Amino acid sequence: MHLQVKMNCIGCGLCASICPHVFELHDGRSQIIEKADLKTNLSCIKEAIMNCPIQSIEIKDFDKKKN
Ligand code: SF4
Repeated sequence: MHLQVKMNCIGCGLCASICPHVFELHDGRSQIIEKADLKTNLSCIKEAIMNCPIQSIEIKDFDKKKN
C-alpha cells in the first residue's frame, strides 16, 4: 500500500487531526509519518481522504496484502 500527499496540500491540518498517527504537518503541508502503520490506521486514513477539502491524499494498492 502506498499513501501520499500531493503537492497541492494547503496545510489545513484536517488529516492530522483525524488520523494523527499517520499524518503530520511540516512547513505548511501534510506529510506521512515515516513509520506509520497504514494497515492499523486504515479506517482513519479513509476518513482523512474523504474529508480533505482538495482531495490531496492518494492511496494506491488497496487490495494488495504486502506492505
Ligand atoms: S486535509 Fe488535505 S489539504 Fe488539509 S492538510 Fe491534509 S492533505 Fe493537506
